[in-house]
Amino acid sequence: MRFLIALTAAFIQLSATAAVWGQIEDRMARVAGDALYWHMDNGRSRLAFEAMPKGGDIHTHLRGAIYAETWLEWAAEDGLCAGMSRAALVFREEATCEDSGWVDAAAAQADESMRVQLINGLSTRSYVPTNGWSGHNQFFGTFGRISAKPERLGDQLAAVAERAGKQNILYLELMETIILPELFPLIAGVNMTGNVDDDYQTLMNGKFGAALGELTQKIQLQIANARKKKNELLDCETDTPKAGCDVKIRFLHQVVREFEPAMVYAQIILGWSAMEKAPDIVGLNLVAPEDGFRALRDYSLHMRMIDHLYTTRGPQNISLHAGELTLGLVRPKQLKFHMREAIEIGHAKLIGHGVAITYEDNSEQLLKKMVEDDILVEINLTSNAVILGVEGSDHPLAVYRDLDVPYTISTDDEGVSRIDLTHEYIRLAKTYRVPYFELRHVSRNSLTYSFLDGESLWSSDDCQADL
Ligand SMILES: [Zn+2]
Repeated sequence: MRFLIALTAAFIQLSATAAVWGQIEDRMARVAGDALYWHMDNGRSRLAFEAMPKGGDIHTHLRGAIYAETWLEWAAEDGLCAGMSRAALVFREEATCEDSGWVDAAAAQADESMRVQLINGLSTRSYVPTNGWSGHNQFFGTFGRISAKPERLGDQLAAVAERAGKQNILYLELMETIILPELFPLIAGVNMTGNVDDDYQTLMNGKFGAALGELTQKIQLQIANARKKKNELLDCETDTPKAGCDVKIRFLHQVVREFEPAMVYAQIILGWSAMEKAPDIVGLNLVAPEDGFRALRDYSLHMRMIDHLYTTRGPQNISLHAGELTLGLVRPKQLKFHMREAIEIGHAKLIGHGVAITYEDNSEQLLKKMVEDDILVEINLTSNAVILGVEGSDHPLAVYRDLDVPYTISTDDEGVSRIDLTHEYIRLAKTYRVPYFELRHVSRNSLTYSFLDGESLWSSDDCQADL
């Protein structure tokens, strides 16, 4: 494929004029597309799609992007324990791990049976749905089984950056919750009324408001330290930098929505401060299962909290998990409004998943609105298959494609799902036989719709011909 592209590019250099440029571009795309699909149909998907420029991954949770083996390695190095009854990594509580009924993580790592149990417990590897334990349970259950020292944030960055660099990925927009336990004592005893204006004042006039500046600085410091460590681990300042040093990284402030309203609101306010002060934090997203008790009960309240900050403190970039639901997982009435509220009240420019679009009230109008307002949907194929059981022709991707809703492909939690972005592109191409020009757009959309500053690269005059 590379040879064919190089040959065509050389031909273009010799003969390109404005008049023939379009024809040559078409021909080159056709050749590249044919070559790509030939590779796919002949056992070479990985080779072709790994090399293909994939822009960015803009729906990726840093914690979910780390593979289980890596968590285990860090736990072993840092003296953590492994609780084998639930296959979890835990911080040492007694003098020895055994005193708590656990084993040293290092010992568990060296024991093949325990190692296998932990890797499977911290991911969806080898998982088969059983009665009472769905893919959804297994997937989200992994997050409660991971423990790592905060200093490992830089190691996490290095791991994902290097993996991205090796796949020709230029940019990562990572979701991460950097400050969380520190907030509990600051909101203890604070009563919320459901009036987002009053509740904002209550939080800001209390201990939380007093600590907000310091917490924001702490986020900035932790990111700066993590970047420094990532650069050291990848030898970025040396003459032989590893893959990943060139991968640009930004963060989305990740709000865990399965808490009581004061805690969610405090996280959103902290996110606003972080977005205002820290250039590294380019947006905000709400996470945790959308079908959780509080996530469902307070969904509209969360949207109003975001709206209050948006309208009183000024617009910021909002990306929201919305429509990561399907019939059977929740009651039908809960499938009808999440995406609309995310867009119309929560100011979301990016929608994560959007699987429930066809269940939404007046969904065709909503789809048109997404096109008119240029709202992109982030499609996470493997995640949707594992968590929701929605895949292939059951997935609404065809609807988005038919109506020209902008979309891109992302990984969601590549470590938990044991995939990477290349895998998702292959899945997209194989399942839906997406034409080459569209694959290019999927890749470009991940940069165009990212929250990086500036206009899309492809809006410049030079690139207009290359659309
Ligand atoms: Zn997600």
